[in-house]
Order: sequence, then structure tokens, then C-alpha cells
Amino acid sequence: MPTAASILKDVFGYDTFRPMQREVIDNVLAGHDSLAVMPTGGGKSLCYQVPALLLDGLTVVVSPLISLMKDQIEQLHAAGVPALTLNSTLTPQQYASNMDKVRRGKVKLLYLAPETLLTPRVMGLLDEVKVSLFTIDEAHCISEWGHDFRPEYRQLVDARQRFPDAVCLALTATATERVREDIQTTLGFSRSNEFLASFNRPNLYIEVARRSNAFNQVLNYLSRYPDQSGIIYCFSRRQVDDLAAKLKAHGLSVRPYHAGLDELARKRNQEAFIRDDVQIIVATIAFGMGINKPNVRFVIHYDLPKSIEEYYQEIGRAGRDGLPAGCLLLYNNADIQKQHYFIDEKEGQQRIVAEKHLEDMVDYAENGSVCRRKPLLNYFGEEYTASACNNCDHCRPANLVRPVPLNASHQVEPKQRQLPRAAAKTERTASHPDTTIPAQKFLSCVKRTGENFGMVYIVNVLTGVRNERIVANKHDDLSTFNIGSELTTPDWIKLARSLINNGYINEEGNFPFEKLTLTDKALTALKQRSPIQVGLSAHITPTPSSSRARVERAAAASDEAYNRALFAVLRQKRKDLADLEGVPPYVIFPDRTLVEMSTYYPQRLTSLKQISGVGKVKLERYGSAFLLTICDFCRSHNLKEISKPQ
Ligand code: ADP
Ligand code: ZN
Repeated sequence: MPTAASILKDVFGYDTFRPMQREVIDNVLAGHDSLAVMPTGGGKSLCYQVPALLLDGLTVVVSPLISLMKDQIEQLHAAGVPALTLNSTLTPQQYASNMDKVRRGKVKLLYLAPETLLTPRVMGLLDEVKVSLFTIDEAHCISEWGHDFRPEYRQLVDARQRFPDAVCLALTATATERVREDIQTTLGFSRSNEFLASFNRPNLYIEVARRSNAFNQVLNYLSRYPDQSGIIYCFSRRQVDDLAAKLKAHGLSVRPYHAGLDELARKRNQEAFIRDDVQIIVATIAFGMGINKPNVRFVIHYDLPKSIEEYYQEIGRAGRDGLPAGCLLLYNNADIQKQHYFIDEKEGQQRIVAEKHLEDMVDYAENGSVCRRKPLLNYFGEEYTASACNNCDHCRPANLVRPVPLNASHQVEPKQRQLPRAAAKTERTASHPDTTIPAQKFLSCVKRTGENFGMVYIVNVLTGVRNERIVANKHDDLSTFNIGSELTTPDWIKLARSLINNGYINEEGNFPFEKLTLTDKALTALKQRSPIQVGLSAHITPTPSSSRARVERAAAASDEAYNRALFAVLRQKRKDLADLEGVPPYVIFPDRTLVEMSTYYPQRLTSLKQISGVGKVKLERYGSAFLLTICDFCRSHNLKEISKPQ
């Protein structure tokens, strides 16, 4: 008999439940209507997806946004779970065929927008089948006190009455007492069936700063996250357009997103972001509700948000995968004035609510020196008792977190890589083919692209990959574009690693990619055309040794203990597979899975199965492709499998 734990491992590939997941799942399986309140990234989806696979009937999931449904369904399909949607974007044939599958019991999860659910056609269909679980996602939409009230959500109460035998689960990331109460009263839930997870997101580094020289502040911040995904929230459409244009002029991979763009442009920009073709989205608050991208590494607020709830919801979009991520709030007095101006336009209750929200937000931003997590969590009725979180600007200055100033290549002393002595020696004595020409190509490509890009990007330019970023940066026009056919992609990466280890290149930035800059040694070698002998058996970021502390650190998938060169190769593999299937890369595997693969080097199916995120269907579907890549890499780097601590 499958159990919640076996479903978690076999289907989703995860070893342990996140806080509160287990409790919610058990309560639902026991037949109690429940409200689960968890922060964004807390793992709400599994709270209904696991029961859906254990209950014999259909699970209906009401969700307000088509894009979110589509994303969930793609992820479920990748894990081999039969899930479908009925919505207005389907052709009549698709619609009918999906209805038929539901009728024939071929579907475990059916995703519906509330207005679709309420149509007589769908209601009629649901009368014909057994509905076991009725899930209301984004349940705060039911409350006028929430930030996203939707009148059609109110009608879900009647809809729910139509399935008296189904258990009902409401989910939200909005934790204010008032909204929670509202949801429960409206749906008639009892208080004892409320599950409130902690709203602390320990992996987020939280910063607040007065906005002075806004653009430079943003550039400065972005230099900490080269090549990584992030969102910048602005107040107005004009700000979005201006900032996006300026960032683009700086060579950054960026797209705007706001309600003034036509639907097609919005969709295209969002899709490019989700698929890792574009790194940064500058947006009004209209962006983010509909996306589930787990590897967003930073969120910047370029302006003061209207409420703590909104702020928290938005920063919550960073680091859903649990890996380190950063949040920066920039504000000044003009923002406050501006918001007052808009509040003055409102009337009655709405105005009172808006004033209170703004007041709380300003208090939070201006708070002198206590840990940011204290007032933030306090707002959601939670007491943060630790004296310091060690992950906010009040507990640990940002410059101690990631010491990478703007234009790092000009301002920072070359970072000396600490190579194990023995490794460095082998490197020098082993016999290698002459690497002068490819090394020259690589170094000049780093130079010609402005010393602003990571390893994979440079390799893509050299090997003639015409992806969206490269085209946008016009790097397909460079003389170094597509001149690297003598080496394979993994070999280029090995070469790059060797160049780093031999002091030709500095790596700056942090997880998951560095930005490469040239050292004086490289500049001299290029100028004098001197031989560059570095070997292709690169030495990489120190791999976990057998020492216990090391392995434990690796188990936490810290951003230090994994092999970055392998990660880069696996990331490319994932992107290739994702493009082939037309899905976002994270649908194939989340970053954490690749980090674990780059930590333990699994080289057999049985060990691959131990890696987080590798369920049965994904193992079958993608296992051999990833194993092949890992084995290849490990063979050429002489790396052995490390058993993952259970
Ligand atoms: P939410 O809806 O609460 O914002 P999601 O359900 O989208 O969060 O989950 C966020 C991410 O965390 C997803 O990528 C999901 O696969 C992952 N996740 C959820 N539960 C677990 C778990 N128990 N172990 C590992 N990863 C998990
Ligand atoms: Zn703190």
C-alpha cells in the first residue's frame, strides 16, 4: 500500500516533508476540512498532490491563474502524474477530450479557474464522477481583507456544497489573522483544522536601504548575482520601461513586464524568464502571481510596496528552492508621499485599510536596528525569538555576505584560488595536448564580451550557440563567435576551469555562476602570444572530502561544497532537454537536484535514485541522460561516487 512518505519519494523524489506538510496531509486524509497557511515556497502544492494520489476519486484544484495551472500540470506530468485542466485556452476538441478523460477516471488532478468550475457544463461533469478532494488554492482571494480579492471566489462556497463527500483543503500564503478568519468563516471550517507554518524563510538575505542613487544601487546589487534569475519590482509602468531600457543598455539580460504591454509581449517575456533565456524581469506588481519559478535568486523593490503582505509575498518569490537568495528594498520619502496621494483617492473601508497597510510598511522600512525578521514575522503574528538571524542587513552587513563590488574586475585584487597542493602539482606534470590556441580563444572571448559573463555563456559563444541572450547582446557578431569547434562543451568547461586554477581568469560572483574576468597574467599572455599550457583535466572547486564535517556541509547543499564545473554541464544538459520538451528547465529537475548530483557524483541508477528530486518516472525518463553526463565528467576528472548520507 502506498503511503504519504512512499508517494513523496517515489513520485516526487523527496526524502522528507517540509514543516507542516505532513500534518496537513494527514488531516486531509483523515477527512477534515483544513486550512493550510504557508509562506510562498513553503511547499503548499504537495499538501494536496500527495493526498490526490492516495485518495481513490478525483482531486479538483481551484486556482485563479491559467499560467499557474499550466506550470503545475507540466511539473506533474514530468513526474508521471495524470493531471489536466479545463480552461478557455483549449480548443473545443481538447476541451471535450479532457472532459472525457475525467469522466473515464483517467485523471487524478483537475485544475480549474473558479469561473470554469461554476459553469453548468463542468458542474455537470463533476456530478458524474467521484470528487474526493476539493482544493482551493490562493484561498485569500475569498477575503476582502486579502490583497487580491476575487468576487467569483465567494461562489466557491456553494460549489463546495455540491460535493458533500469530498474533503476541502484551502491554501494560502497570506497569514494575517483577519484574512485567515475570513477564509474559515466563509468556508465554515473549524479553527482546530488550521495549520500555520512558520513564515520565516531562512534562506532569504533581507536588506532595506534608502534610495539615493537608484540606478547605481541596482547595478551594484546585480553585480552580486551575475547570470542569475531575479525580479525588480517598480511602482509604475514608466519606471519599468525606463529601468529595463537602462539595464539593457548596460548589457544585462532583461525584459519589462507590466499591464501596458500587449498580452503577447507579456507572455513572451514571462516565458523567456521562466525558461532561463532571460535573467532579469523588471515589473510592476502584475508580475509573479502567475509564476512558480523556484530558482529566482533575488528580488529588488525599487519602490516602497503598498503593504507588508504584498512585500512579503513578492520577496517570497526568491529562493523557493531553498537555496540562498537575496531581497533588497529601496525606498525614500517621495514614495510615501506618492502612496498617500493614491490612498486619498480611495474611500471608506478601502481607504482605512490602505492607510493602515502603508503605515505598517513604513514602520518596517524605517525600523532602526533590530533584526528584520522580528517585525516582519511579528506582523504575521509570529514571534521571532532568536537574538539575530545572521541573514539580514541588521544582523550581518551585506558586504560580509557577498564581497563583490560593482565592476569587480577593476576594483578587486585578483582572488587567489586555493588549490590543493597535490592537485596543482599533478596539473603541471601531467602531459597534455597544446592548449595555447583554445586558451587564447577562450580568453579573448571573455575579453570581447566585456568580462561580464559566466563560463557557460562564454562556452556558448565559442561553440556558436545562438540563444536569445547571445543574440540580444549581439555576441553572435563577435569574431570569437562559433570558432570553438575543436573542443566539446564539457572540454571547454574543463579548459576554463584550468585557466582559473592557473591564474589566468578570476571568478567573481556566487551561486550558481561566476562572472569571469582576466588577470594580468592573461592579458600579458594574450599580448605576447605566449604559450598557455593548462591541460584539460581541470581541477574544480574542492570536492567533498571524506571528512564528516565536509559531507554534512555537502548534505546541506551549501553553495560551496559542490562541483561547479559539473553543475554547469548538468545545467546545460537540463536546458537542452527542457527546450526539446518545450518546458521550463525546473520542470525537468530543480537546481537542488543538480547541486546534489554535483556533490555526490552518482554513477549508477541506484545511487541516482537517492538524489533529491529524482522520483521513479524522472529516473526512467531522464536518468540515463544525466548519468551519462555525470559518468563522462567523472571519468575525465577522475572522480568517484560519494555515498549520500541517509
Ligand atoms: P508554494 O506553493 O508554497 O509557494 P510550492 O508547492 O511551489 O510552494 O513548492 C516550492 C518548491 O519546493 C517546489 O519546487 C517544490 O517542488 C519544492 N518542494 C516542496 N515540498 C518539498 C519537499 N518536501 N522536499 C523538497 N522540495 C520540496
Ligand atoms: Zn536578522
